[in-house]
Formats: sequence, C-alpha cells, structure tokens
Amino acid sequence: MISSLVLVVEDDEEIAALLEKYLARAGYRTTKASTGLTALTHVQRLQPDLILLDIGLPDIDGFDLLTKVRGNSTVPVIFLSAMDDSTDKLLGLKLGADDYVTKPFNPQEVVARVGAVLKRTKGIAGSEVIRHDAIEVQLDSHLAIASTEKGRIELPLTATEFRLLVCLISSPFKTFERTSLLDACLPESDALDRTIDTHIANLRRKLTESGQDGYITTVRGIGYRFARSTGV
Ligand code: CA
Repeated sequence: MISSLVLVVEDDEEIAALLEKYLARAGYRTTKASTGLTALTHVQRLQPDLILLDIGLPDIDGFDLLTKVRGNSTVPVIFLSAMDDSTDKLLGLKLGADDYVTKPFNPQEVVARVGAVLKRTKGIAGSEVIRHDAIEVQLDSHLAIASTEKGRIELPLTATEFRLLVCLISSPFKTFERTSLLDACLPESDALDRTIDTHIANLRRKLTESGQDGYITTVRGIGYRFARSTGV
C-alpha cells in the first residue's frame, strides 16, 4: 500500500523541514509549498491525502486558501494557527478544516493529529450503506448522497462532516449530546462544544443547498437529532 501524501503548506523553512522530518519518520510521503499559489498547484497536480496549512502565508491568507481548496476538494485539512485564538479556530473549522493545531506545537502531536484525521477519513470499515429518507451514506466509498428531483447529488462534505453525518444517520430520531458527538467525530481534539455547532451548521447548510431541508434538529440545551422533518 502506498503511504499517504501530506502537503505541508508553511513559509517558515524551519517549521516546514521539522514537520516533513517527523512525518517522513512516521512513514508518510510529504511535499511542501511555501506560498499559497504553489499550494493550490500542488493540490491539483499531486492530489495530497491531507494538507497541513499555515494560516500566515506571504501571498494569500490561509483562510482564503482554505476556501479556494474547498471549492473543489474534500481533502482533509489541518490548519496551523499562530495564536491560541479561538476566533481563528472557529473560523478555520467553519471554512471546512477538519482540525487545527496551535503554534508552538510539538511535531509529534501534529503527526498524531494527521494519523487521526486520516483514520477518520479512510478508516470506516465495511461496504455498508445507511439510508434515511432521501439521504444515503456509503461507508466504503465515503460518499454522502442526496436523492433530489434532479437526481442523485453527492454532498461535498469534509471528513469530519461525513463522520458526523454517519453518526447521526445511524441512529435517526436519537438525540445526541454535543459531547458524545465530539467523542465520536473529533476524538483527538481539545475541541469545544461550540466546534460541533460549527460542523453541524456546515453540514446543515450543505444539506439545505442540495435541497434537503430540516433533517437536523437542534435540541435545546442538549444537542442534535437527525430525522426527516415531518413539517409539523
Ligand atoms: Ca507563516
């Protein structure tokens, strides 16, 4: 099996070299980009399995880059945030990142996060298909599909959003607490309950954009429930 390719987007040469060294030691293939432009080219040409993305780049803001990447790719993204700034973290997750690491970081922790996110992305075993009403998830091929009047549409979900959807759709009508969703979907993060809200908001928006309204119900003070709204 070919090892996963990690794209390191970082303009600080020392940090980039350190990350590449530790990733290589853990058995990953790596490639590097020190500008946003190079990163975009690499994403298209090399189709990395995961991106480590520095927010402070010389030519383009990391958040803008993330938006561009998300325009046509669901590749997992872990962003490197310079400050311990929760606004940064929430914005990154809102834009579709799968996880974040705060600088200064322990490279071994970054490698662990990479492993966890890749496992989430690829590690769901079985060829099972789970359906609820017009929504279908194919665990094997990692696809989420909505049946609409115009046919079947693939939902452009990030790895974390997919994982959340699998969790919710596996037990329709069940109310999940935020903490249990956090444990199931973001086990390696020191994430806040609010980050789940952000991922849920993204998932809900993508469902809505595919014409599938009202599947995710917010249960006040507790968490979320997935089931087709009866319109009542
Ligand atoms: Ca930087």
